[in-house]
Amino acid sequence: MTQLDHRSAVGRTREIAQATIAPAAHDLDRAGQFPADAIAALGEAGLLALNVPSSFGGSGLGPRAFAEVNAVLAEADPSVAMVYMMHVCAGEVIVAGAKTTRSPVFQTALAEMGRGKHLTTLAFSEAGSRSHFWAPLSRASRTAGGVLLNARKSWVTSAGSADSYVVTTLSSEAKSPTDSTLYLVPRSATGMRVAAPWDGLGLRATASSPMTLEGVEVGDDHRLTEEGGGFAAKLNIVLPWFNLASATVSLGICRAVVAATVAHLKTSKFEHLGNTSLGEALPTLRQTLAQMQIDTDGLAHRIDECVGALESPGPHTMLRVLEVKAAAGETAIRVTSDAMHACGGAAFSKHTSVERYFRDAHAGSVMAPTGDVLREFIGKSLLGIPLF
Ligand SMILES: Cc1cc2nc3c(=O)[nH]c(=O)nc-3n(C[C@H](O)[C@H](O)[C@H](O)COP(=O)(O)OP(=O)(O)OC[C@H]3O[C@@H](n4cnc5c(N)ncnc54)[C@H](O)[C@@H]3O)c2cc1C
Repeated sequence: MTQLDHRSAVGRTREIAQATIAPAAHDLDRAGQFPADAIAALGEAGLLALNVPSSFGGSGLGPRAFAEVNAVLAEADPSVAMVYMMHVCAGEVIVAGAKTTRSPVFQTALAEMGRGKHLTTLAFSEAGSRSHFWAPLSRASRTAGGVLLNARKSWVTSAGSADSYVVTTLSSEAKSPTDSTLYLVPRSATGMRVAAPWDGLGLRATASSPMTLEGVEVGDDHRLTEEGGGFAAKLNIVLPWFNLASATVSLGICRAVVAATVAHLKTSKFEHLGNTSLGEALPTLRQTLAQMQIDTDGLAHRIDECVGALESPGPHTMLRVLEVKAAAGETAIRVTSDAMHACGGAAFSKHTSVERYFRDAHAGSVMAPTGDVLREFIGKSLLGIPLF
């Protein structure tokens, strides 16, 4: 087991990003292939247990280290950062489950993460309730020692490649749409199936396929929350990490696309104008580039503020959590759109990677909680209207 502190975690991530992740990003995107080598390298470095407490075999680092690590990953390949953030968010739920239930199932999963051998993910969204992850339609049915799960999950990042899935479903006795419970379902469970291949517009190397659960039997030792405790876990455990994580993917994309634009504006020339570079010749493109940089740095500050609010919780922490993902999704779309404009036909033709960042950037605002839903939550909370 590798114990990491903040500095060594970021340092190892940078090394892996440079040696393994960035060089493979283009081909994995083209092929829509899961980044198995990147995940293996992150596991070997101890990064799959970054946030797992040392008592369970991890490094016990908090949101600040995670935010920096994930932004570095996203700069090298946003797909890898997406797979990693799903793992870390699901890992938070498993840690909470291990603390409250002491189930050996969860302790084993966490110990395997410490050895770099266990990748997990969130299986929340359902075909029927779409982006409203807080209201699953599937319902557990009781067996003698556990439950049977039947569900149509509309998207699951790392589908078929994860070792376990944190699954939400209505409790067997649920009386309202939010009476959900979370279970840890191992990949080996009979009845788990990847329903279709993943061929998305962006984040193409994430294997974010639909999955079906048909008569999947899990014991009570796989129940991560109290019966009906899924809703609270989603809001109190997953949401803060997920929103922060999603914002860091957006930040990495912005940084990468600013760098790609700088390189293009410096190296592409107008030969008929005395061999001047685009950046030297066109003040409008310098304006665009400057705005991209301003937006990117603004997002970095917003993320830093959110991390601070998570480290020292107060009355505005949830507002910062809601704001950070809403703002980040829009920022990434704006900055990558500016890059498409600044790099012109060269961006359109793929060799600058700008079009890949542009495609990847569009996932943030449609991933649940979507940007629209976050703005709904913020508006309602400012007006004192109940969110659900
Ligand atoms: C690359 C990728 C990976 C993903 N990985 C996972 C994963 O690992 N696990 C998982 O559980 N899910 C995952 N998802 C699913 C994701 O979280 C959303 O559930 C999904 O993107 C929603 O798409 P939809 O078509 O069902 O949206 P819909 O719910 O149909 O939304 C359509 C539009 O309506 C808007 N809208 C919806 N509700 C409201 C409202 N109340 N107020 C205002 N506007 C509203 C939305 O913002 C959106 O613009 C992933 C999605 C993507 C794109």
